[in-house]
Amino acid sequence: MNGNDEDPAPTRPRPASNGAELHERLALHGGAPIRRTPWPTYDKGAVHVCSDDEEAAMRAIRSHLYFRYDHRNESETECGQFEAELCRYFGTRHALAVSSGTAALALAIMGAAVPPGSLVACPGFTFVATPSAIVLAGCRPFLVEVDDDLRMDLDDLRRRWRPEIKAILVVHMRGFAADVAALAAFAAEMGVPLIEDAVPALGAELHGRKLGTFGVAGAFSTQSDKALNCGEGGFLVTDDSTLFGRAVALSGAYEGRLRRHFPGTEPPVDGLDLPLLSLRMDEIRAALLRAELTRLPQRLALFHRNYAQVSGALADLPGIAVRNPVAPGAYLGEAFVFRVPGGDAGWFARALRAEGIDARNIGADDDLNVRAFWNWRFMYDDRDPARIRATLPRTARLLAETVDVPLSSSLTPDDCDQLIRAVRKVAAAAPAAVGVESVRA
Ligand SMILES: *Cc1c(COP(=O)(O)O)cnc(C)c1O
Repeated sequence: MNGNDEDPAPTRPRPASNGAELHERLALHGGAPIRRTPWPTYDKGAVHVCSDDEEAAMRAIRSHLYFRYDHRNESETECGQFEAELCRYFGTRHALAVSSGTAALALAIMGAAVPPGSLVACPGFTFVATPSAIVLAGCRPFLVEVDDDLRMDLDDLRRRWRPEIKAILVVHMRGFAADVAALAAFAAEMGVPLIEDAVPALGAELHGRKLGTFGVAGAFSTQSDKALNCGEGGFLVTDDSTLFGRAVALSGAYEGRLRRHFPGTEPPVDGLDLPLLSLRMDEIRAALLRAELTRLPQRLALFHRNYAQVSGALADLPGIAVRNPVAPGAYLGEAFVFRVPGGDAGWFARALRAEGIDARNIGADDDLNVRAFWNWRFMYDDRDPARIRATLPRTARLLAETVDVPLSSSLTPDDCDQLIRAVRKVAAAAPAAVGVESVRA
């Protein structure tokens, strides 16, 4: 706890910045909060679903045909049509709808024939599903530092490189594109496949190319917090027919059902050579997703509009560091992630929550956020978080400084304005960075 949690005495000089906000007493200190209604998030029902989507799901329910492989042709099933539409959307040869984003990631690794027991490199800042998918695929996660903008750091990957690393799993974390072209070139140099965890960046582009199409495969989720939402689900996209065939067979296309995914050609793999893991998607969810996919461009535009409003207003605010995209516009915009360099991000997030904004300090000690690698205890023999943090010291320091605010596509410009005012208000009252360092030490 730092000294700033006390109300300043009225006569004490206040920090010189941000004019008007200085008059406002923080809600944390008993002042009026900027916002009194809940901050909209998917788990409170703030989702981008309309009556056409509901109707599509009802159509599938009324059909009584819920399994994707039945008497119909692929081109008549919801799953088959969803996959064809994904191929058009991403410009890929193949797409496979599956049961979750984690399943899609594991199938991509297994589809790429990464030998079980290999190391798979991934960034130290990601959702726990990324290292979990590596474990599900029979491999071992190998963590790499992130840079100041919280992207996988290629220089650190080079430095740490070991011959046991047989794949690179890059993540476009919180919707921000990684430097995926450079990573793809490095993967080619090392002779290993690059797989994209593009889960948080569905629809986002880098240099006019969709994220998820830079590596040998891109994995996506359709869980409720993602840009397409059917509760639980996912898919992978790829141009590699062998990878695709293996993923299809592993996902559960048994007894010739694999053939349906290769109309007019012989499948490049024999399904009997692979175990069947039953990670399929069903018809009801695919119907819902197909309807939502038609409005994905509008949803992406809302994410971008909201993010532009928030980041534009706060980019130059003293005391915080807003993430820089790797190229202009190379993000989805479904979260406002910023650092409080040298400051107390735990206090900052608490103060924002008191103002009515959902905010979390990712590296908070008291939160057990599963985006902080020291909470992935299944990976470590050591149970001491301090020693685990020391394995990636830079990422640990950056995450301790990081605040994460979800930006639902349902936010209005007024909601965004409240967020902007709240961040300004809290930043104006935040203790100066130097002082905080000494308090925290
Ligand atoms: C949500 C998420 C996943 C997992 O998706 P599920 O469908 O929940 O399995 C994987 N990676 C990242 C970065 C995510 O945010």
